Amino acid sequence: MKIICIGRNYAEHAKEMKSEVPAEPVFFMKPDTALLKDNEAFFYPEFTKDLHHEVEIVLKISKAGKHIEEKFAHKYYEEIGIGIDFTARDVQARCKEKGLPWEKAKAFDGSAPIGKFLPKSSFSDLNNISFHLNVNGELRQKGTTKDLLFSFDSIIAYVSQFVTFKTGDLIYTGTPEGVAAVKAGDRLSCFIGEQNLLEFDVK
Ligand code: MG
Repeated sequence: MKIICIGRNYAEHAKEMKSEVPAEPVFFMKPDTALLKDNEAFFYPEFTKDLHHEVEIVLKISKAGKHIEEKFAHKYYEEIGIGIDFTARDVQARCKEKGLPWEKAKAFDGSAPIGKFLPKSSFSDLNNISFHLNVNGELRQKGTTKDLLFSFDSIIAYVSQFVTFKTGDLIYTGTPEGVAAVKAGDRLSCFIGEQNLLEFDVK
């Protein structure tokens, strides 16, 4: 499986990163070795001094597809979850400065903690899913899919022009504003609505 991540999909986050609001979706990938499951602890990597959390709604692809039309995209995911797109912000800044790819900053082992999934059918409105991240019990980031620049279906249509989706692939759909550094000893808890679906320690 592969992990597709959408960048700059919330205008306020693009602003806090001093990035332009994109005219079309920005995406990058993480390998399957980035996944961190079952609330396992995350070990702070040696190569960064500025590791940021980005809490994101995650779609799980339920069937293979290529060149998926936006009007049919809803047929390609049945489950929705929440995860963290860990980012070594200092490493990313150096990559950006030199115009180099971001993989070192984004695709490292354990950089994609993933929580439990909920059936899509349990949501009354996919365009108004509220979610948040607590760090050590205090609210750190909160968002709603109302503010997505590119909807779930438009992301799938766009990305599938370039990359074939397979069953089990994950799409991290972008983070709202409020990204910040984590440190060893922090406990991260991710919620959709009031449901805690992912909780782990940074060591
Ligand atoms: Mg992200």
